[in-house]
Amino acid sequence: MVRHVYLHVPFCRRRCSYCDFSIAVRKRIPAREYVDAVLQELKLLGTTDPGREPGDIGGESLESLYLGGGTPSLLPPDALATLLTSLLDVFRATPSRDAVEVTIEANPEDVTPASAAAWRRAGINRVSLGAQSFDDRVLKWMHRSHDAARIGDAVRALRAAGFDNISLDLIFALPAELRRDWARDLDLACSLLPAHLSLYGLTVEERTPLARWISRGAAAAPDDERYAEEYLLAHLRLAACGYRFYEVSNAERDGHRSRHNSAYWSGRAYWGLGPAAHSYDGRVRRWNLAGWEAYRRAVVAGLPPVEAEEVLTEEQRELERLYLALRTDAGLPLTAPYRPLPPSTAHWVERGWVEVREQRLLCRPEGWLRLDALVGDLTGAGRAV
Ligand code: SF4
Repeated sequence: MVRHVYLHVPFCRRRCSYCDFSIAVRKRIPAREYVDAVLQELKLLGTTDPGREPGDIGGESLESLYLGGGTPSLLPPDALATLLTSLLDVFRATPSRDAVEVTIEANPEDVTPASAAAWRRAGINRVSLGAQSFDDRVLKWMHRSHDAARIGDAVRALRAAGFDNISLDLIFALPAELRRDWARDLDLACSLLPAHLSLYGLTVEERTPLARWISRGAAAAPDDERYAEEYLLAHLRLAACGYRFYEVSNAERDGHRSRHNSAYWSGRAYWGLGPAAHSYDGRVRRWNLAGWEAYRRAVVAGLPPVEAEEVLTEEQRELERLYLALRTDAGLPLTAPYRPLPPSTAHWVERGWVEVREQRLLCRPEGWLRLDALVGDLTGAGRAV
């Protein structure tokens, strides 16, 4: 039984300087066509996929629905309401809709008192806000469409509409020449008292404006030292404000973990709908056509919009379990073959990068910074650190 559903909304106003996601940049959002396409895909899931019986869809047990993108907050409220009503009905997530975590990723400029109230009425109870920075200069460099003041306005509008489960995304490890004040951004984020924070280190992806700037010397390449310094500073600063990292990039207060992302990290099955969305049943991972038009054409023709699938071997699944366990504060259970720990891991404990507690191996921030090397040492494929 699948209890977690992801919906990819591919539209954006423009491309951010670091982003290589599968998006469709549009001035006019084709909301009607999008809603029809997703509902058609949902219909196809139960009728054309040999791996899924019609009876697989539905049940009383949907736990999370996540609208990610792209920019889901660009969909007009009536389109969102139609989508959510259909999805929550298909998955029979009633009578208590608030028992299901329903998240929307939103950009601050799309949050108004009216949109926030409409989202709440549609059944959304969690908002993940793409704040990224509180420095207007930095936001401009990122090609973001909002300024810093809009972040606070958005949080206040969401609270007034009844949202208490608000998450902020921030990006760190920006090029030195920007002289971004990371401590100030962390403090400003904390001052808004979000229930949750997600912190992402900047990575350079091919074919992005950032990659071009770096190749012609207009921006500095990422710097591992800066990454580590800012990551460790975030742990100190956020702990002082009452946040607790429960995953390598995510911190919460008062128990507000992301139930949807926690399902990914514990290896649970999920369905993905929409262009580029991934699904996983515990053994097979499949993903949809990434381009919006290709996806739409497929579903309109009555064809499953699947691009490809991968059957994971037992070794691949074990490696994934290892990574996922170490990414979170659940840690790795020290059962065979990791009991006793291989001798190559002794220095991890000695240096305080990991700890062993209640028969589990848990990463400290310094361990999370070196996750690949730790997994290498645990599996015998290690390299010196
Ligand atoms: S809004 Fe998000 S998905 Fe869209 S271009 Fe920017 S980072 Fe990428």
